[in-house]
Amino acid sequence: MKIIAVNAGSSSLKFQLLDMPKETLLASGVVERIGLNDSIFTIKYNGERNKEITSIPTHSVAVEMLLEKLVGLNILKTLNEIEGVGHRVVHGGELFKDSVVINAEVIKAIEDVSDLAPLHNPANLTGIKAFQEALPNVTTVAVFDTAFHQTMDPVEYMYSVPYDWYTKYGVRKYGFHGTSHKYVSLRAADMLGKKPEEAKIIVCHIGNGASLCAVKYGKSMDTSMGFTPLAGIAMGTRSGDIDPAIVQFISQKENKTLDEVIHELNQKSGYLGLSGLSSDSRDLWEAVERGDKKSILAVEKQAKMIADYIGAYYISLEGCDAICFTAGIGENASETRKLIVDRLKALGVELDYEKNLTRGEEKIISKDSSKIKILLIPTNEEVMIARDTLRLSK
Ligand code: AMP
Repeated sequence: MKIIAVNAGSSSLKFQLLDMPKETLLASGVVERIGLNDSIFTIKYNGERNKEITSIPTHSVAVEMLLEKLVGLNILKTLNEIEGVGHRVVHGGELFKDSVVINAEVIKAIEDVSDLAPLHNPANLTGIKAFQEALPNVTTVAVFDTAFHQTMDPVEYMYSVPYDWYTKYGVRKYGFHGTSHKYVSLRAADMLGKKPEEAKIIVCHIGNGASLCAVKYGKSMDTSMGFTPLAGIAMGTRSGDIDPAIVQFISQKENKTLDEVIHELNQKSGYLGLSGLSSDSRDLWEAVERGDKKSILAVEKQAKMIADYIGAYYISLEGCDAICFTAGIGENASETRKLIVDRLKALGVELDYEKNLTRGEEKIISKDSSKIKILLIPTNEEVMIARDTLRLSK
């Protein structure tokens, strides 16, 4: 059964075509700069790469082009082979605790929670509608970034603020990266030789966006992003947790609106803000090699924030079987992993520095004597989307 996993942004559309349930990747690619004259369509399949620069005015045109290519490049014989399309949707609010087959009611509900993710949900909906137009008879499934975290208890998800902010406006911790946290925690249990219901796992998803998740017996117990993805640990351009009074203080000092200050916390902080150089971890580590003090501070600050969250989750979980690293930095930057794990000595965690040099492949990178295993696990959100699409289209 062929399933397309889709991640639609406001001007982009990422896709993977998977053969399920084997989980074989048949094709993957991205359409970028949708709406401009020089849109870029890239597709990889069978060891080949096909790239085209052309005008792709809308997501509907991008989808038509993708479907034509799938048949034109002989990746599929006919479009009838496609039996499901799964879409990443960023925010499901409290309405969606699991993935769901999309119908008119679901579309309305996704629209209803769009004020919680005003940039992302409308873009995700554009992708959904474009595929529904092109493949009207195929089951379409929404997979929410927030759904995995809907198992959190009020003591984890409520903020200590006036209660009616929650009842009136839904102000609470939602958490994000749920699809990745779920995939990695399932793989971790498997690598430990345990059932997910037996394992206590901390997942560190460290990419340009970054969050941690405490997974107890297969369920998200707590996570570091909050009402929005701005909360938690320092990221490529996001500050992570700060004293909220700073927002008003800077707004007055720099004569900026609240929106402008929040924009700086989202786009000009984190690695970029502290280093003044770059939001990209590779640039930062190059600067660290040269002894650049601000870059050293940027990577150390993030590592401290991550280690502190791990300590907190160790307490919440009442112990921990494995700490996992995933996403662009977690999978590749051995220096970052070392900085973090070196701060966890009190937990009896010991990194194997040789094994830690691994990149992008599943591996246990702690010493045999370590009290908690350290796992490197490349994430695969698309496979999770395809699994849920398969499950719900039966
Ligand atoms: P993501 O958002 O998961 O795509 O991750 C993006 C981040 O991963 C960027 O900061 C990249 O610099 C970082 N990254 C990707 N590959 C490497 C690598 N080989 N070494 C260090 N960082 C990397």
